[in-house]
Amino acid sequence: GPAPEADGEARAWLARHGATFGHFIAGKFTAPHAGKHLTTSEPATGKALARIAQGDATDVEAAVNAARTAQIAWAKLGGHGRARHLYALARMLQRHARLFAVLEAIDNGKPIRETRDLDVPLAARHFLYHAGWAQLQDREFADQVPIGVIGQIIPWNFPLLMLAWKIAPALAAGNTVVLKPAEFTSLTALLFAELSAEAGLPPGVLNVVTGDGATGALLVESRGVDKIAFTGSTEVGRLIRQSTAGTGKSLTLELGGKSPFIVFDDADLDGAVEGVVDAIWFNQGQVCCAGSRLLLQEGIAETFRRRLIRRMETLRVGMPLDKAIDMGAVVAPVQLERIKSLVEIGVKEGAEKYQASGAIPSEGCFYPPTLLWNVHPSSTVATEEIFGPVLVAMTFRTPDEAVMLANNTRYGLAASVWSETIGLALDIAPKLLAGVVWVNATNLFDASVGFGGYRESGFGREGGREGMYEYLKPKAWSGRKARAKR
Ligand code: NAD
Repeated sequence: GPAPEADGEARAWLARHGATFGHFIAGKFTAPHAGKHLTTSEPATGKALARIAQGDATDVEAAVNAARTAQIAWAKLGGHGRARHLYALARMLQRHARLFAVLEAIDNGKPIRETRDLDVPLAARHFLYHAGWAQLQDREFADQVPIGVIGQIIPWNFPLLMLAWKIAPALAAGNTVVLKPAEFTSLTALLFAELSAEAGLPPGVLNVVTGDGATGALLVESRGVDKIAFTGSTEVGRLIRQSTAGTGKSLTLELGGKSPFIVFDDADLDGAVEGVVDAIWFNQGQVCCAGSRLLLQEGIAETFRRRLIRRMETLRVGMPLDKAIDMGAVVAPVQLERIKSLVEIGVKEGAEKYQASGAIPSEGCFYPPTLLWNVHPSSTVATEEIFGPVLVAMTFRTPDEAVMLANNTRYGLAASVWSETIGLALDIAPKLLAGVVWVNATNLFDASVGFGGYRESGFGREGGREGMYEYLKPKAWSGRKARAKR
């Protein structure tokens, strides 16, 4: 295969910081108040990669205060002024695309092909798109004002892209931000913050406080925060909803999923097999909207199983910087153990297990592409989010049964329908309880389309006009002309 991507520039950036980072507050790196750090490791090798600061209440308050101070001028700058900054952030990402792609692959374990072709370009596109909204703000959102200081908490599966989804609309609308990246993957957020200052973003507009869930909880509780925007697990989402209840804070939650991937007898089967690969083995299956439940109509189930297993055999699992691989490492040992134990439960509950037989690296957090066949709809693996490269399959007879099975979940993030009969697809799509439905496609993302869930997948949308409304609040005002003095 092609030579692995060289990691020199990323290692040099780490070395320049002595592989130890403070928080990024008011435009510069700031040592943690309590002097505590966490060590992050490379998922593919298990080797220590860097030390990130563990934020305490003093750190969080310093960041929130910096954001509060910066917000007045940032809002006053107006839509056109903010658009200039968002364009500059997009260009900064494009200029350093290779550094971001390599650092993300090393830190998260995902393939360089994905970071290079998806994570980084989609992040840049998000800033370009929202620069457009900033320019239109006076006309399109004339009756809206910024919310203020936004606390944003993001997961580790798309560290840079989730940063973009969070901060681009917030900044465009005139808010300032305190971002808490996931403890496993904070490096691209720190690099982004450093380079955003070099690109002229005013100090305090974007602050990054690192640390684990305890730091996140402090941000949620901070009285200086006007809104919390969270992406992560349903469990933590529930905690955050409880702790913001009864405060004046607004909240949006982007949580987990167990999205159905429905294949009818008349589907283009080869296309659907490729769709499955993308739905569940992209990013090692660590995708909130992953098509993790395969629902097959009985007539094609056997054929589909054979073709899918043949295709699984061709997937290459390997080192993230190798451009020839299809799957890299999962993010951390704790996730690997969770995946292993859920697959064991699935087998105990009666599923047949198929795993690709190809070699996987012996060190590091690697797990092979896995199919659990003949899964019972009420079993653990059919109902719990595995968040790894594990697909569960079951069959149905009629379209009604497909809809019933598809909706038999506490989640409602995405769904994918495969059929060559447009009437059938159009009949099914509206009946699926999911915020996003793809027809003969999967995992399509666009900055202009609102993404988000129903039910326990959360509420609120990211992207599109609806995503801008999440960072604005309506303001009605009226009055009379002052009476002229006689
Ligand atoms: P997680 O909820 O454990 O962590 C997410 C973030 O929340 C991290 O930054 C973490 O430090 C922080 N956090 C943890 N405990 C907290 C607390 N008590 N208060 C405040 N913050 C806290 O989730 P994870 O394991 O990092 O991510 C995987 C999950 O995220 C999956 O369930 C996945 O479906 C979901 N996800 C959803 C979307 C979406 O858009 N709907 C996108 C990506 C991931």
